[in-house]
Amino acid sequence: MKRREFCAGATAALAGLTLAPWRRAHAASEVAIVGLDGRPQGIKSGDVEELRAGLRGELLAPGDTGYDAARRLWNPAYDRKPALIARCVGAADVTHAVSFASAHALLTAVRGGGHSLSGLSACDGGLMIDLAPMRAVEVDPLARRARVQSGALLGQLDRESQAFGLGTTSGTVADTGVAGLTLGGGVGRIGRRFGLTADNLVSAELVTADGKWQRASAQENPDLLWALRGGGGNFGVVTCFDLQLHEVNPQMYGGQISFPMTGARELLRHFADYIASAPDELYVDIDLEGDDKLGRLVTFDVCYSGPVDDATRVLAPLRKLGKAVRDELAPATYLKLQGSSYTPGVSKFGVYVRGGLIFGLTPNLIDGVCGLIETAPSNLLDVWMQAQGGAISRVAPTATAYWGRGASHNMGLAGAWQVGSPDAERNTEWVRHAWTQVEPLTRGNYVNIANTDDRESRVAAAYGDNYSRLAHLKKRYDPANLFRLNANIKPAA
Ligand SMILES: Cc1cc2nc3c(=O)[nH]c(=O)nc-3n(C[C@H](O)[C@H](O)[C@H](O)COP(=O)(O)OP(=O)(O)OC[C@H]3O[C@@H](n4cnc5c(N)ncnc54)[C@H](O)[C@@H]3O)c2cc1C
Repeated sequence: MKRREFCAGATAALAGLTLAPWRRAHAASEVAIVGLDGRPQGIKSGDVEELRAGLRGELLAPGDTGYDAARRLWNPAYDRKPALIARCVGAADVTHAVSFASAHALLTAVRGGGHSLSGLSACDGGLMIDLAPMRAVEVDPLARRARVQSGALLGQLDRESQAFGLGTTSGTVADTGVAGLTLGGGVGRIGRRFGLTADNLVSAELVTADGKWQRASAQENPDLLWALRGGGGNFGVVTCFDLQLHEVNPQMYGGQISFPMTGARELLRHFADYIASAPDELYVDIDLEGDDKLGRLVTFDVCYSGPVDDATRVLAPLRKLGKAVRDELAPATYLKLQGSSYTPGVSKFGVYVRGGLIFGLTPNLIDGVCGLIETAPSNLLDVWMQAQGGAISRVAPTATAYWGRGASHNMGLAGAWQVGSPDAERNTEWVRHAWTQVEPLTRGNYVNIANTDDRESRVAAAYGDNYSRLAHLKKRYDPANLFRLNANIKPAA
């Protein structure tokens, strides 16, 4: 949409409205907002007021009540300050905000659950389209579908679905957003049974860069549905997701079991043999981490969603891997396991993450990651390997935008520091350095843990043979690359 068309429409909508006196006083002045080219540009205050008047939700600027809470993301390493935040309460607000961003060619960030590890859902000086107020989740237990608004969090989806003994794959931390997670893929405790969250995306409603509302489903815009299943936030602002649900028994067995780092190489080799033939119902994440009390540990985060009576037998080899320093494996509800991994809310630590996909726990890989942990200063480094495989790997790589189907795990390296401490730079550098050592053992990457440091070639590697099709769809739906704060797919030439 061109700037003139947007302004004409908005002015018509404004007819008869009276501006508050202080806003009238500012009507002649300009607001500085960063454009798509990264440079600040002046936008007439009157235009900004038209944007405000056309929203049902609030439009916030620095200094407004609620501005700081709205811009805050999970990772405090990214303290970004948008010039404007459009707090959308429905699809009409999203349409209005996207049209405004497009008409003025603004740097635009889109926030779902705010868990972007690299802070991509906020921006400095641009427009933030904040979907957090849109949190409705409606489950149709007969059709086994969940209609999920784009600001909803995983815990809300899990809770509504489990009330009917239903569920679908979501991530392992309950306050992550459904939106970003689904659009990038979505790996979690029942993913080996039911595929990625994106595989369960039946349809989506979105506003594309031209300000048009569209539905993507098998019948309408099927290409767009294909792209949304793993292509990230590149194609528009999704307002609503329609997800397939499955029968999921609320009673499961799981939790964490930890072993000392000493002997980790041998332990992980035995684990690799064990997990290679695990049933789809068994999901085990590996975490190599430092614990202030217990020292360096190999921790397995386990969820067994098969019959609870079978769990002790299925998990016996895991328990026999060594002498556990902590064994919290026990019967637990799915909701309890989903809420168990982290303290909810904003992270207390700043975090820097790099990651890639791995295809089997080979001796080289085990050696590489154990070496990193052994040489990392204090408890600085956390290495996780999140389990994929099962149903995720039974979908063809070209069937959806998500390419990394054959991977056994997505691996991440994270460095953390107390907010405000001088360790930020040192720890970030250490992770960058550590990453250079294990990157050759990875192939491709998972865009939901991509980093802003990632070169364009890394995004291409994440999408493999799907990249060219995605770039052509990007050209069709977002030729000016309005939605660029993501693992960015450049519009085809
Ligand atoms: C603590 C933690 C645990 C995690 N665990 C898992 C896990 O178990 N499994 C897993 O697969 N991933 C996991 N992740 C990664 C997670 O999938 C991504 O961070 C994901 O992007 C978060 O989605 P969000 O909506 O919260 O993020 P946001 O920060 O809101 O957005 C992330 C990206 O998606 C875009 N986006 C958000 N909403 C929309 C929308 N409605 N339309 C278009 N684009 C949009 C944003 O612009 C941004 O580029 C985890 C992340 C964290 C921080």
